[in-house]
Amino acid sequence: MYNVHMMYEVHEPRVVVVGGGLVGLCAALFLRGQGVEVTVVERRVTTSPQPKARRINIRTMELFRQLGIADRVFEAARGLASYQHMAAGPTLAESERLPFMLPGGPPDWDAITPAGACLCAQDLLEPVLREIAETRGADVRFGVELIDFQDEGGGPAGGIHVTLRAADGSVRRLRADYLIAADGANSPIRERLGIGRSGRGTLGKAVNVYFRADLTDLVRGREFNLCQIENDHVPGAFAAIDGVRRWIFTSGAGLDRPATEWPGALRSAIGVSDIDIEVLSVMNWEPGMFVADSFRSGRVFLAGDAAHVMPPFAAAGANTGIEDAHNLAWKLARVLHGVADPALLDSYQAERHPVGWFIADQSSIRTANLRTMNKISADGSPLADPIALILGNRYPAGAFIDDESEHTMERLDVSGQPGTRLPHTFLTPDRSTLDLIGTEYVLLTGPAGTTWRAAAVQAGIVSHEIDESYCETVGIEYNGALLVRPDQIIAWRAPELPADPTAALRTALELTLYAPAPHPQPSRSA
Ligand SMILES: Cc1cc2nc3c(=O)[nH]c(=O)nc-3n(C[C@H](O)[C@H](O)[C@H](O)COP(=O)(O)OP(=O)(O)OC[C@H]3O[C@@H](n4cnc5c(N)ncnc54)[C@H](O)[C@@H]3O)c2cc1C
Repeated sequence: MYNVHMMYEVHEPRVVVVGGGLVGLCAALFLRGQGVEVTVVERRVTTSPQPKARRINIRTMELFRQLGIADRVFEAARGLASYQHMAAGPTLAESERLPFMLPGGPPDWDAITPAGACLCAQDLLEPVLREIAETRGADVRFGVELIDFQDEGGGPAGGIHVTLRAADGSVRRLRADYLIAADGANSPIRERLGIGRSGRGTLGKAVNVYFRADLTDLVRGREFNLCQIENDHVPGAFAAIDGVRRWIFTSGAGLDRPATEWPGALRSAIGVSDIDIEVLSVMNWEPGMFVADSFRSGRVFLAGDAAHVMPPFAAAGANTGIEDAHNLAWKLARVLHGVADPALLDSYQAERHPVGWFIADQSSIRTANLRTMNKISADGSPLADPIALILGNRYPAGAFIDDESEHTMERLDVSGQPGTRLPHTFLTPDRSTLDLIGTEYVLLTGPAGTTWRAAAVQAGIVSHEIDESYCETVGIEYNGALLVRPDQIIAWRAPELPADPTAALRTALELTLYAPAPHPQPSRSA
């Protein structure tokens, strides 16, 4: 279809990301953080005009903290800083604040995470991420569509060859080593690869009415994240977008209502008859669960909605996709920098598919009812603790050495188990144990583990001493150690000092990086 002599660009990025949404832009940021050359192509000429995702959860904020961009995101989220509560009532004017969603009240956040969640509408966040990605050296091209790609495998002429069409109609080809498909729920790349999807399928129908109205006086003192409207004629929920003039009303009713009738319906739901309303868009959509059967095909990796679509009731779609990109970026970097076997990339599927499935499934059994959210599931099946859903996942297999220790999702249970996120503790008022992890593997050693430090130097990795109390938190003796991956996931736990810590550490690194181990060792979980 396209001229085979079409011009190849001289510039060859190591990774091409297709899709400049939240996940694609974050993938570029994580890859740049790992020193990887990346090109992002996005067919839209601007970032998303739709403010779909708003809840940026604590894990994503931890990742933004690791990138050093959390302050920029909080700045973008400033307008909704006081809009954290849920509310409900027969109309917006009569609504009241609901108690905190967890039965036991708010947890001790400082004990759980150094980061705070925020509400930042996607249309405000994406331009910030785009700008930072560009400043950090990503080649970000909006108005450029991927129209074809060929996976040429390994070898000198191998890699992934992509055909790109710019907004002016010009067509060019580009070669890269790997491709990340962050091209959304209908992912043309996933379709082209013939990767099927499984899950609970479509779970309903809904309409989002995005509108402008000055609700400043009405909302003052009852600022809300979501406000559930409980009446028979216009049931649904308002979502705050900028906390001043932009709002979304979501409903499972009135799906066929003409756009011209929505201002009247909205006035009725607001409970004020003479308010000016400008409807910006009316979008019908279907909540559903669709998880790709494979997150990888050759040199192509699926991330974000391309890999897993879930209902928004746990506010997890974008957050889970951003974690996909975080999981993948350091692995691609290790392989591209020649320090890991390409087999390391298989662990992306082993780790992210089960977690993506679990979160999508948990999102599917949650309901939109704010009064019973996180208490009653749609079909009676058990709901995971919402904080554990965000911070407490454990990979069943992958690039870590499993010690088969116990773990639960009933509550947050991150206590040093390999395959879980490193537990957070403040070392100083503004420095967390998570801040010890930068772009490389790190060895955390107990106070009686001085020999570990020489082992770390020999292995070429950084080590930090942790105190007795943190040793107890992560389940090691004072002479034990914890090997942590660049994505803050625990790769290996040595409960105490082995006879030869240098050899043990080297083997652990080789096993978790999928490099050949020189000596037989405990088998990797895979
Ligand atoms: C009402 C609602 C509320 C939500 N609330 C939340 C929330 O609070 N928190 C949360 O985490 N999630 C939420 N979500 C989910 C969230 O919006 C999505 O999970 C997230 O936006 C997916 O991001 P993505 O980057 O994977 O895909 P997308 O945002 O869909 O981006 C994919 C991009 O790829 C581009 N593209 C596609 N094909 C090509 C091609 N061939 N060439 C170039 N570009 C291409 C598209 O133009 C698009 O911009 C919500 C969703 C809805 C519907």
